[in-house]
Amino acid sequence: MSNLIIESIGNGIDRLAQLADNPTIDYQQVAIYGSWLLTTFEVYLYKQQLKQYDIKVIPTELVEHLPRETFDKSQAYGRDKTRYSLIKKVFDQILSVLLIQFGLFTKMWDWSGVCITKLGLSDDRIITRSLIWTIIYVAISTPIGIPWDYFYTFVLEEKHGFNKSTVKLWWIDKAKTMALMAVLGLPIWGAFLWIINWAGKDFVPWLMLFMIVIQLSMQIIYPIFIQPLFNKLTPLPDGEVRTRVEVLANKLGFPLKHLYEIDGSKRSSHSNAYFYGLPWNKHIVIFDTLMEQSTPAEVEAVLGHELGHWYLSHPSKLLLIGNLHLLFTLTLFAVFIHNTTLYKSFGFDPSLALDGPRGPPANVIGFTLFQLLLEPLDAPVKFLFNSITRKYEYQADEFGVKLDKRQELKTALTKLHVKNLSSPYNDALYSMYHHSHPTLTERLRALDEYKDDGKPLKIKSEKKEL
Ligand SMILES: [Zn+2]
Repeated sequence: MSNLIIESIGNGIDRLAQLADNPTIDYQQVAIYGSWLLTTFEVYLYKQQLKQYDIKVIPTELVEHLPRETFDKSQAYGRDKTRYSLIKKVFDQILSVLLIQFGLFTKMWDWSGVCITKLGLSDDRIITRSLIWTIIYVAISTPIGIPWDYFYTFVLEEKHGFNKSTVKLWWIDKAKTMALMAVLGLPIWGAFLWIINWAGKDFVPWLMLFMIVIQLSMQIIYPIFIQPLFNKLTPLPDGEVRTRVEVLANKLGFPLKHLYEIDGSKRSSHSNAYFYGLPWNKHIVIFDTLMEQSTPAEVEAVLGHELGHWYLSHPSKLLLIGNLHLLFTLTLFAVFIHNTTLYKSFGFDPSLALDGPRGPPANVIGFTLFQLLLEPLDAPVKFLFNSITRKYEYQADEFGVKLDKRQELKTALTKLHVKNLSSPYNDALYSMYHHSHPTLTERLRALDEYKDDGKPLKIKSEKKEL
């Protein structure tokens, strides 16, 4: 039975692949029009949101917590950030269209050929050549992004009092990120491309398996090797907050192994708290900035919300949804992987799409072009993902109410919002597209409505988690 299903999926992919490899379709034009469509939509959303920053009246829900001066500051901060995003979006779009029309991708492929010959390797070493192609791409795109990044941190965030980083620390962070990409990213990318060639026609399940193994390994690698490169985690000292969090974790059956404070204030005064780890071994991390601005009861309420996410298995569900999306994307890629028209319309030799005397197909090109085509479809996916995470946020808030933390959660959220100068007003469509969380006013309103049924929460057995 399952063999039959797999066979019919395979046949369906083959048929779609034949239909898609139609020489009358100009895929380059499709990609360019698609990206303009997406950019136009995003610019429209930014413009709608910009209007919200002209509002001069403090929302009634926030009038008590938001002094006039802070309200004006948050409107100014929001306006600057949105303007920045709008201008950057248009810049990126124009640049990417120019680079496509200038034939940068094909030139990069030629250059990677030159590099591989200079290294004394034969040019059918397709994975090595693909990695060189990727390095050339990063070497071109990174310097273009650096001034934008610099401006964001040292001009925009600085102006509004959030930047705590120094130029030196910022450069060190950049160097560390690049080193991580070289040491970790490049081998993973190489293995990804190798699996496609090795598995041939049936690459999707193998690639899925590989990606899942990578995701699980990252859960272990990230806290031990990556996070310490950027931040210092210190065990939260004994005191009221530690006791409160430990009692709460115990009450819910949360397998708390370590409770840390993170030096988030080293770079920015934005604040937060989160948890991570394997199902039987969890760590909670609280930002020093959150500790500073909240009472112990409020920190506990924020963690009550976070542990609500765990109790309701939100991370596992999101992992599942994310992987379903990945499965869909890879299956769709299977339709386009050997599409000679796609290669040709971007100026590549179509034989690169196929296995031949020249060597295995150059799937790195296929995958990159496929992503350009797919990009406009990101918009509906973003709406869908945000609607799911928003639902989970409401559920975690409701969980906080069941923990009898309604009032503390309200004041904690309001403080976080005020300190982070988050926008008090949001255009509905803009917010649905850009925000994974409901806005503060939406959450405060909902928090007033949840009913605490008075039933004590059961300890969550370890078996229930994926
Ligand atoms: Zn949350």
